[in-house]
Amino acid sequence: MLFKNITIIDENLDVKKNMFVLVQDGRIAYVGAAVPEGYDGEMFDGSRKLLMSALINIHAHSPMTLLRGYGEGMALSDWLFTKIFPFEAKMRERDVYYSMLLGIAEMMKYGTAASTEMYFHTDAIVRAALESGFKINISSGITSFDGKPLSENANFLCEQKNFETIHGAGGGRILADFSIHGEYTSNPGIVGGLAAYLKGKDARVHIHLSETKKEVAECRERHGITPPAYFEKLGLFDLPVTAAHCVALEDGDFDILSRHDVTIAHCPVSNLKLASGVANIPRALRAGISVGLGTDGPSSNNALNLFSDLKLFALLHKGVGGDPKLIGAKEALLSVTANGARAQGRADCGVLKAGARADLVVIDLDTPSMQPEHDLVSNIVYSLDPSAIFMTMIDGQVVYRDGEFKTIDLEKVYFEVESSKKRILSEL
Ligand SMILES: [Zn+2]
Repeated sequence: MLFKNITIIDENLDVKKNMFVLVQDGRIAYVGAAVPEGYDGEMFDGSRKLLMSALINIHAHSPMTLLRGYGEGMALSDWLFTKIFPFEAKMRERDVYYSMLLGIAEMMKYGTAASTEMYFHTDAIVRAALESGFKINISSGITSFDGKPLSENANFLCEQKNFETIHGAGGGRILADFSIHGEYTSNPGIVGGLAAYLKGKDARVHIHLSETKKEVAECRERHGITPPAYFEKLGLFDLPVTAAHCVALEDGDFDILSRHDVTIAHCPVSNLKLASGVANIPRALRAGISVGLGTDGPSSNNALNLFSDLKLFALLHKGVGGDPKLIGAKEALLSVTANGARAQGRADCGVLKAGARADLVVIDLDTPSMQPEHDLVSNIVYSLDPSAIFMTMIDGQVVYRDGEFKTIDLEKVYFEVESSKKRILSEL
């Protein structure tokens, strides 16, 4: 497809008008001000449209769409143990498959091309991503409450199998990560065992880290150190790690994350909804830590529309820090594009330039929220009405265009998700 006369946000997040962008074989083949020579395929009239890199959500439990609106008004620990875990214990593979498709449809509609998922029934999640054309990093969230060694841990065995069999599937769209759900849901034997197992492997790790003050206090009681110091000591941070939340980091923790190049998956909406607090992201950025954005699960957000998290990200730290210069629009946009791609281990994603994968979003400029055009990056971050999102493309495939989902039968998904919801509630 050739996008003609379109406004773009380029690799430096600068706005360029009247550009030509050619997509071939899943990649951006050409970006320039002149018509590329020798192309006579499908054309897209880009006048009054904007083309930019699609968004990347680096912390999600998307099949939790099934729990959207269930268990409201509770603090994290209470919410997990009295509402979420009992409901999830009833979820079967088929429930996870359709709930994941619902989540994928929502992400596609709001311009997201990839997410980093941590959830169970990973086969169903991978199948949903493969069939719909979506891109995921998948892990199952290793937990351990029984004292068994890592080699007998069901979630670890699942991740090991995924790494050996589906890592790189779908032309690289599926990446199999490893994970530790959290310090408070595992033990040193499991964490140290995973670090030792992964040594020398080209693998990535996804964890929850210092989400609440309570988690940090309990970790100190158990181990005498903070969660980042604990994971560092056990060798987990010798691997590329994406750490979700990081709300309750203490002074020395920033150095630890910076030293080991851990990416923070900042989840401002989820942290506010569960009253966990506000992560000190400006300090993390000053310490040189890379920051991406995550929605977290749709039962603590409750949306998968990353544009709304983006706006909150750009606003929140200004208000908390009392400084309007904190988190500029470009810095915010970088977090949901190139920084997200880097965290996922996808060096050729998250940027609009020749050679990169064609994960792209088309935004309608003829819409009140995008006018006038003093600063289009600022409009994208602060004023974009999501109905202006016209098209989402992943690896060159149009998956959503003008209200139409090209790869998902949404009526079927709504029916199945409602059936799952009714069955599970009747079983509780
Ligand atoms: Zn989470």
